[in-house]
Amino acid sequence: MLGGTFDPVHTGHLVAAVNVRHALDLDQVLLVVANHPWQKTGRRITPAADRLAVVEAAVAGTAGVEASAVEIDRGGESYTAETLEELAQPGRDLFLIVGADVAADLHTWRRPDVVARLATLVVVSRGGSPDVDPGPPWRVKHVRIPALEISSSDLRARAGDGRPLDHLVPLAAIACIRERGLYAGAT
Ligand code: ATP
Ligand code: MG
Repeated sequence: MLGGTFDPVHTGHLVAAVNVRHALDLDQVLLVVANHPWQKTGRRITPAADRLAVVEAAVAGTAGVEASAVEIDRGGESYTAETLEELAQPGRDLFLIVGADVAADLHTWRRPDVVARLATLVVVSRGGSPDVDPGPPWRVKHVRIPALEISSSDLRARAGDGRPLDHLVPLAAIACIRERGLYAGAT
């Protein structure tokens, strides 16, 4: 799973998903859309159903990458430990994909011991940045991906000023953003 707020999803997320799936030969990567991202306080978050619809549009046609509503269906605040408990099945190996920024912050999570027990952590490192390794009890793999200087925060700022999101966000996802009137001003 690759969890996120995806407000909005962007090409950096997709490049991470596709490359981790390839590097580790995974069956499937789920982009798990947070219902209520409890660590992102102090700003308005786009409704979860809209963020999910944009992720679904973004992944359509990408083999082995899917949007997941598991956290939205569960409701409330989104904790990865609970999501992994829900995804766990006998014979299924779980991997938790995170960027280096998130890997440095795992100790702030709810029940990190459960997360470490249920999933192998996959840290995607970009460009020449050093590998972040949280150490035991985490089981860690590193996958290097092309550094794409794209963030949802910057995309929201761009949309606010009327600058284009095209190709930073897949075109089908932009069409969905427009249909739903999200990120006012998104071209
Ligand atoms: P925000 O700017 O609002 O924090 P974001 O672009 O970081 O948004 P998130 O939804 O917070 O997106 O991130 C979900 C996951 O994707 C995190 O593990 C994050 O490290 C990773 N990620 C974010 N941007 C990139 C990128 N450009 N390349 C690879 N991974 C990324
Ligand atoms: Mg982020």
